[in-house]
Amino acid sequence: MPVNVLIIEDEKAIAEGLAYALRKDDFQVEMALDGNTGLDLARRSHPDIILLDLMLPGLSGWEVCRAIRRTSSVPIIMITARADEMDRVLGLELGADDYIVKPFSRREVTARIRAVLRRAYPSSVQETDEILKSDGIEMNISRHELMVDGAAVSLTPKEWDLLQILLRNKGRVLTRDLLLDRVWGDDSFMDRGTLDVHIRWLRQKIEADPGTPRRILTVRGVGYKFSD
Ligand code: CA
Repeated sequence: MPVNVLIIEDEKAIAEGLAYALRKDDFQVEMALDGNTGLDLARRSHPDIILLDLMLPGLSGWEVCRAIRRTSSVPIIMITARADEMDRVLGLELGADDYIVKPFSRREVTARIRAVLRRAYPSSVQETDEILKSDGIEMNISRHELMVDGAAVSLTPKEWDLLQILLRNKGRVLTRDLLLDRVWGDDSFMDRGTLDVHIRWLRQKIEADPGTPRRILTVRGVGYKFSD
């Protein structure tokens, strides 16, 4: 059953960005760009959780929160640009369940929502772990665990990112530029040799014989691919 999220946020770009990210994670999303509409929607459409911006025109986030709490115990996560406001949110018995400080990442929001839902509805939220598999390799994205031929292996963050993108694109050649861009971003101090070094380290951890790799293959002059 999809989880219904109500976003009450006057900055349209933020509201829409959030909605987009949450829909991608299979949430159902409704949006309100001001407090009155938000309060109205909160009462009419019975969301499972509400993301509520603190600074709203008209009815403020404080007032909306207080008004919702008079009739409902729906979980509320407050959103604010000011971390120093948040002690008040939680301290003033407004009844908010958690808060997020702008700017936030999509992952952070989703993680917070799931955590709050777990607390609010202990038995109803079942999470399935996202696991990438290729023979002998099991990468549990949700738990951040890697098993290679039945043994736990630990990776550095860059090795983890590198393996993840290779596994997600199993069988496809990924160019060096793409890998550099995805794993290191616009880190201009990056030496191109760094990619090869990390591939070598990764092979030492996941290949039976790192000298003759069978999992991470070099495609000469192009890049690398995970064998399929
Ligand atoms: Ca605002």
